[in-house]
Amino acid sequence: MPTDNPYQNALDVQDACNLSGVVLQFAIDMQTIWDNEPGLSTEDRNTHPVVMMYVDKLASLTHRDLVGATGYHYAKRMCEQQARVWVAPEKEMPSTNRQKNLAVAKAGEGEIVFECPEETCHQVETVTAAWMAEHGTPVCPDCDSDMVYEP
Ligand SMILES: [Zn+2]
Repeated sequence: MPTDNPYQNALDVQDACNLSGVVLQFAIDMQTIWDNEPGLSTEDRNTHPVVMMYVDKLASLTHRDLVGATGYHYAKRMCEQQARVWVAPEKEMPSTNRQKNLAVAKAGEGEIVFECPEETCHQVETVTAAWMAEHGTPVCPDCDSDMVYEP
């Protein structure tokens, strides 16, 4: 468990095996140092003992110490290739997300917010359990798709 003491965390992290967790804690501990040790120069920060402990751990988890320059050049080539073809996964449109969040916030007790699953639609409908008992799952008024309920 990370503490609020960056020096202790830098020691504890030496036993970690999950790089993502190390990186996230590294960012938190760097911020703590910047907040609590004002007056450090950029060079002081870059070579701070806590930073050096984290960087050494990251190097170790990536086997950087074993693969050395060859590993760096391989990784650089792979990144150059992937940087050209990378396509970020599509994010949910914020406006429709907002529409659904608003509907959920406004829904009263016993009301259920359904959303159209069609990528280009995302129509939102609020129904009651009593309405559903009579009519079943709502159908999108815009595109006739069966709407879905995601809590
Ligand atoms: Zn629809």
